[in-house]
This record gives sequence, structure tokens and C-alpha cells, in this order.
Amino acid sequence: MDANDPTDRPAPPDLTSSPQGPRQLLVVGGGMVAQRLVEALRARDAAGAWRVTVLAEEPRAPYDRVALTSYFSGRRASDLALGDESLWADPLVRLVRGDAAVGIDRESQTVTTASGRSWRYDHLVLATGSSASMPPIPGNDLPGVFVYRTLDDVAALRGWVEEQAQRWGRPVRGAVIGGGLLGLEAAGALQALGARSTVIQFGSHLMSAQVDLGGGQALRRLINQLGVAVRVDTATTHMRPNRQGAVGRLEFADGGRLDVDVVVVATGVTPRDELARAAGLDAGPRGGVVVDDTCLSADPAISAAGEVACIQGACIGLVAPGYAMAEVVVDRLLGGAATFPGADTATKLKLAGVDVASFGDAFARTPGALEIVWADPVGGVYKKLVLSDDARTLLGGVLVGDASEYASLRPMLGRELPGDPAAYLLPQTSGEVRLELPDDATVCSCNNVTAGTIRAAVTDHDCTDLPGVKACTKAGTSCGSCVPLVKKLMTAELEKAGVTVSRALCEHVDMSRAQLYDAVRVTGITSFSEVMRRFGTRPDARGCDVCKPVVASILATTAPAHVLEGERATLQDTNDHVMANLQKDGSYSVVPRIPGGEVTPEGLLAIGQVALDYGLYTKITGGQRIDMFGARIDQLPGIWRRLVDAGFESGHAYGKSLRTVKSCVGSAWCRFGVQDSAALAVELELRYRGLRSPHKIKLGVSGCARECAEARGKDVGIIATDKGWNLYVGGNGGFTPRHAQLLAEDLDTETLIRTVDRFLMYYVRTADRLQRTAPWIDDVEGGLDGVRAVVLEDSLGIAADLDAQMTQHVDTYEDEWGATLDDPEKLLRFASFVNAPTTPDPSLAYVEERGQARPATAAERAAHDDGTGGAVLVAGTTLAVRS
Ligand SMILES: Cc1cc2nc3c(=O)[nH]c(=O)nc-3n(C[C@H](O)[C@H](O)[C@H](O)COP(=O)(O)OP(=O)(O)OC[C@H]3O[C@@H](n4cnc5c(N)ncnc54)[C@H](O)[C@@H]3O)c2cc1C
Ligand code: SF4
Repeated sequence: MDANDPTDRPAPPDLTSSPQGPRQLLVVGGGMVAQRLVEALRARDAAGAWRVTVLAEEPRAPYDRVALTSYFSGRRASDLALGDESLWADPLVRLVRGDAAVGIDRESQTVTTASGRSWRYDHLVLATGSSASMPPIPGNDLPGVFVYRTLDDVAALRGWVEEQAQRWGRPVRGAVIGGGLLGLEAAGALQALGARSTVIQFGSHLMSAQVDLGGGQALRRLINQLGVAVRVDTATTHMRPNRQGAVGRLEFADGGRLDVDVVVVATGVTPRDELARAAGLDAGPRGGVVVDDTCLSADPAISAAGEVACIQGACIGLVAPGYAMAEVVVDRLLGGAATFPGADTATKLKLAGVDVASFGDAFARTPGALEIVWADPVGGVYKKLVLSDDARTLLGGVLVGDASEYASLRPMLGRELPGDPAAYLLPQTSGEVRLELPDDATVCSCNNVTAGTIRAAVTDHDCTDLPGVKACTKAGTSCGSCVPLVKKLMTAELEKAGVTVSRALCEHVDMSRAQLYDAVRVTGITSFSEVMRRFGTRPDARGCDVCKPVVASILATTAPAHVLEGERATLQDTNDHVMANLQKDGSYSVVPRIPGGEVTPEGLLAIGQVALDYGLYTKITGGQRIDMFGARIDQLPGIWRRLVDAGFESGHAYGKSLRTVKSCVGSAWCRFGVQDSAALAVELELRYRGLRSPHKIKLGVSGCARECAEARGKDVGIIATDKGWNLYVGGNGGFTPRHAQLLAEDLDTETLIRTVDRFLMYYVRTADRLQRTAPWIDDVEGGLDGVRAVVLEDSLGIAADLDAQMTQHVDTYEDEWGATLDDPEKLLRFASFVNAPTTPDPSLAYVEERGQARPATAAERAAHDDGTGGAVLVAGTTLAVRS
């Protein structure tokens, strides 16, 4: 009997009958596929027919292994969490961590674990994934030799590289054995840790499983440009120790040698089928548990899914097919008839600065297949499409150096391409996305979402924006490579449905913020009234809460003037209006600027004295400065007089503008620091202070890859390297946290500042109202690459203009509070009651807590008023009342 052939198998068992209560589903392996399986089961098994237990060898809940490399560039283990954590709190779900399954007894239907526990099952799913292969090279067990599969692996690797850097006081010399997808990711990871790296490839070119020779050669040039050396056709014969007994040298079959401090082995994976083999289940020719199209093994009570499953004759080392298998298993458990649809093995390299994608029959193995190739060796671009013998149907492709067409070409696999195929490869058509995708074309292969499902999210489920479509369909929520296409499909559908995807600011201005910015800049208009006259829907419009602050913000950059100057004062929103942050009890908070978080003892004393004298609650903010709460509006000028006299200036905590540049102490004090991060942070904060923008802007600077300043959580994050600075953009916290992405590497300080200037000014110019940098980058044509092209390569020819505008900002900056204190007119607005300017607001009441004042609750006020409660300090006319 051929276990691979479903027709040779007995009729599928009924997995759903439930004689008494929920049946026991046991999943061995707590990886990505197990997580998807449990998620799908809990979403579909509304009746609670199954109780699921997951036995995980690793000591943590399933995590995003695909994103493992991001751990090197600042992400923490917790950032890699998958899905909704509440899944593991479901009463029908149990996750047993840190206890490996060691034996299956098929007769009694039990699994035993390393801790000696025994688990009975009605159905067992093996989702044990793979382990990283280790070739039998002598010396492969030396300290300093690593594989790259689990969080513990990458944590150990990171620790080792950091230790070596400290020990030797020079850049760590790294080597990666294996030039496939994973090897190149590992090389990038070593670089991110500040190490040098050399990739050693046994075969004739890099990524030989995915790209052809031409593509591999173009890829090699791109990899070299990143500073990574490559040796092809090289077999490693020995790993030799150094004097300390750790790995110190690699020796090759051709007689060559390479001195190393760390080696990462990325030569492939081996399916974790040991349990299944010991239990007598069939293994595939290259390992893996043999299963049929329903993911069932030869034992009807045991399925396998994910990398460990040998399905349709092979194990597949990608997550999307594993997810598809998980869905099939769940469907079958619930009485469905799903079968594995076949694997989409399309791959895209996740290495910043190197665009590589391969999909379908990339090697043109289909009989009669035709190849169309376009190559630009100078530009490092190689593109190939593989077509059927009539040159119509797309069979596969390889894109190196420019994979922008990947998202739109991949769903066309197996379909006729509209128009001339060559047009897809030529540079002038890049970026064009053809939207005539049939409904059944898969757009998101990680989550198996078709173009039709995305269209239906708009037409049937009323989704009108990208977050809505993502939440509704799950498209774009895993690797994210399909997001541009999802967005374009959504927009096209909205437009088709007659929903004008309006970019108008409001009823008074029929333009987007970016269009209005350009209009104001080009015409040189300097006042709101003029803007309305020229560009308003009605020339006499007075504007609203939406357009007024937008115009104020635009004018602040194009025609700098004080925020409270003349007509501009009327445009500001509540906080800008009094240059302080309104709090819930009607009082204000005051935040002086503390550039880079650096403050002198005298400055601290001055802040402390002001807070003491005015009875202000003080708190250190997340941006490394001191916030003083509980100030009445009439107290603001007095407080600021004292602060300005002590050398402080406005921190703009109230404005849509630069907030802070957070930094660590860097090389001035820290043993690990490679650059002076504090000095750079101060320089940047002084440069961009007061820059008005579509939303708040935060920066961070870390003095080494340890990233103590958490710079990658900022709009602009800068991390020191041995050679200069790596620049990341588009990070933020808040509702939708985002990690900043690498824009450029190893910049010297001058180039860095020029690049940040252009990035910020381009953002100020073109982002929508209240749009942070991360969604703005998503919106820029070409995404991060598009931004990179504008700010680093001046692709729009506007760099000089951006530079000039930033220079104007720097040259015209003045401290808003300092200028206000010198202007009696402006000071008039700081009164509690305009009709009784000397009377403070008596509605403010405070109680003492942990040695400071905080606003009284309604109950505390009431108790105070009727004499039953403790002390409530009511704001009075003199400081003494509060003290
Ligand atoms: C650095 C890196 C980058 C990658 N990038 C991509 C990518 O870009 N695209 C892509 O599609 N794929 C990528 N992959 C592959 C992808 O991560 C895997 O295909 C996916 O994780 C497979 O899921 P799985 O659940 O089958 O196996 P795993 O995620 O490996 O999970 C299996 C789990 O089972 C546990 N286990 C094994 N034996 C036992 C036992 N006896 N008892 C209990 N637990 C056990 C293991 O410890 C492990 O936690 C990448 C992998 C790595 C390492
Ligand atoms: S990030 Fe800064 S403080 Fe942290 S280790 Fe590096 S230099 Fe030191």
C-alpha cells in the first residue's frame, strides 16, 4: 500500500463523534503551525466538540519564527508574540510549555513527555517542525558555532557576538555557512550586531534553491554592496579552535582559510520526525511524517502539519503551506472535507536593502517553458519571467534588485498575463500594479486570502480603510508583502462602488493636506484668510477645528512666525492656544525642553524649586524630561518666567511637532558605546525643536546595538555602529505600535543629519493630517523604498528644496515661551476668567497622595464640601493656600 496515495487508503475516519463531552485533541509542538491550528479550531468549533492540549518543548508560547531576525535589530522576545494572547486562556485550550513529548503509544493513544507526564488523545497532531541541520564538519561543536532556528539560538548568538566585541575591542569576524535564504538573513543579522560577515556557499551561486545563475550573480553584487563578503563553490572542511578553545578559523577544501570569532550554520533543516518514526509511522525519503492530502498519517488517529509533514512527497520549509495544513486538519476534525491545496513556495528575502523574490517555476522546468529576462548589471537588477510555450501564461519568475512587481505578479501565477509580458520587466513600468486580478487569485498566501475576499470586505462588509480590510480578512497580517496590493484592490473597489476616496481636508478645503501644503508653498501665502480666499470652498469661510490647525501647521513651516502672532493665535487648537497641555481637571501641565534628556544639577534644582513653589505634581516622562502638573492658566507665565530665567525653553509637549530626542549616555560613559549618542541627540533636538508637523514626532539615539534608548520605537531612530550611524524610520508606540525600519546604514554624522532633515521635511510636506510617519511611509509610492529614493537619491529632484526649508526652520527658530513673556499683548490670554483676570479658577481641588498633589475625585470633593471627608486643598489666590 502506498501511504502517499489517498486512493490506496481506508475511508477517512469520522473524527467528530463525541460520545461523552469534548474529545481530546493533542498537538505536539508549540510552533507557528500549532498556534494557527488552535486559533482556527477555537474560531470554528463553536460547540466545543474538542478540548485541545499543546505540548511545547520551548519554554514559551508560539512566536513568529519568520520574524526571528528582527530580534537582532532591537525587537524583544515579547514583540514576536503571535496572535491574541487570550487564545491560551480559553478554557478549552491548554498550553504546556517546556515539556517535550518523548514517546507515542498508538495502542493506548497516549503521549508521554520528558517530565514523565502522560497525555491521552482522541486525535494527535504532530506539529514538531524542523531542527536546523548541522553538517558533520570537524569542530562544529566548538563554542562560537551557532545554528539559527529558535529564540534561544538567536539570543545565544547575540550574547556571543556582544561578548566577543568586548573581549577583542575590534569588529567581530563572522562567517555564515550556507548562502540560502536563511544564511543571507543570518549574514544581515551579524552585520546588524556590528560584526563583519562572510557567506560561504557550497554551490555556484547564492539562493540556489530559489534563483537561477543570473539572479544569483546579481544578488551577489547586492550582498557585496552591503559589506558582506561571499565565497561560492566553497566546501568547509574544518572548524579550528583559537587559543581560548572557541572557534577561530575555518578551513576550506580549496586550501583557503578564514579567521573567525563566530560561525552561523544555515545549511538547511531536518524534519523533527523522531517521535513518529519511533512509533512506527512512515517517513518520507528526506524525512518527515508521510501524510495524505487530508494531513492524515497511516494511523487514522494521527495527523501531521507544518514543516514536519511530508505531504505530496515533500516537506515544505515555509509557513504558509503549514498554515494551510492546520486549516485542513481543523476542517476535518469538525467534519469537513478539506484537502491540502498544494504549496505556494513563493519566497521573498527579508534583508534590508536587497530586494529578491522568486515564485512558481523559477527554473523554467515546465516542458516548453519560455524565459524572458531583463538585466541591468550596473543597477544590480535582474528580472526573469517564465511563461508557457505560447508566451501567455505566467509560470514563475525571479526578481533581483527590484521586486516591486512581486505582489502583483505572484497572484497571476498560472493565468494569462494581460498585455506584453516584457512590459512587466521594463523599468518604466515598475510600480504599476495591474488590478484585473480574478476573484480567485490568492493575494495573501500566508493567510490564503483571495482578491475576491478583499473586494467583498469592501462591498459586503463596508470596510473603507486598510486596517478595516486587514481585520476583516486577515490579509497582510503575517509577512506583509501583499499589503500594497491589498490597499490598491481596496481603493479600486471603493472607487468602483462610487465611494469617492476623498482626500479633502474638510468642508472648507477641498484638497488633501499635501496638496494644500504645496499650494501654500508655491504661492507664498502667509495668512489663513488668504489661504481661504485662494483655496477655500468659500472665500469667506472661517474654517473649522480641522482646517485651522492644519493651515497653522503649514504656515509654521512655510512662513515661520510665533504661534500666537495675530490671526495665527485663533487657528491653534486648545493646547497650542496656551502653549501647555490641558489636563482632565482643567489645569495645565508644563514641560520644559531637556535636549537629549541631559540636564544639569542646577537645572534640576530650578525645576524642583518651581514645582515646590507652585505645588505642582512632578513626573518623569517616557521622553526623558520632567512634566509638572496642576498649573492654573494664570500661573503659566510666572512658572515660565522662572524656567526661562533658569535657561529652559518650551518643550512643545502641547504641539504637533518634535517632542523629544531620547538617548542613552553612549560612548562618553558607557563601556559598550561606539558613538556619542547623547551629543548627537542634543544636536538633533536643538535642530528640530519647534518643527511643526502633521503629527507629533519623536526621535531616539542609541550608542550601540544594545539599543537602550529604544530608538526603533521612534519616528526616527538612530543606532550607532562602528562605522557611523544606522538610520531607522517609521516607528511609534500608541494604539498601533510599529518598529522603525532601516532606511540607511553606516552614515557619517553629516550625511545622517542631512538625511534626517530631508526625511522630516518630506514628511511635513506630504503626510496627511494626524498621520504618523509609519502610515505615511506605507502611503508613499513605493513605501520605504520610495522614501529612500527621495531622501537619499533625490528621485523627485526636491532635495535642495527640502534642505533649504529645513535651514530656514533652524535659522528662524525662537523659543515660543521666551517670546511670549516679552510681549504684554500675548500675556493677556493667560487668565482664568477673561472678565476677572486676577481671579484664579476655584474649581481646581487637590488631595495629597504619595507626597504630592493630585486632582480630587468627585467623591473627595463632595466629602470635603459636606464636612465628612479629609482634607482637600482647593486652589486659591496665593501659593500659601496650596502649601
Ligand atoms: C530565521 C528564520 C526565518 C524564516 N523566514 C521565513 C519566511 O520568510 N517565510 C516563510 O514562509 N518561512 C520562514 N521560515 C520558516 C518558518 O518559520 C517555518 O516554516 C514555520 O515556523 C514552521 O512552523 P511549524 O509549526 O511547522 O514548526 P516550528 O515553528 O519550528 O515549530 C515546531 C515546534 O515544535 C517543537 N517541538 C519539536 N519536537 C517537539 C517535541 N517532541 N515535543 C514538544 N515540542 C516539540 C519545537 O521546539 C518548535 O517549537 C523561517 C525560519 C527561520 C528560522
Ligand atoms: S545603547 Fe547606549 S547605554 Fe546601551 S549599551 Fe549601547 S551605548 Fe551603552
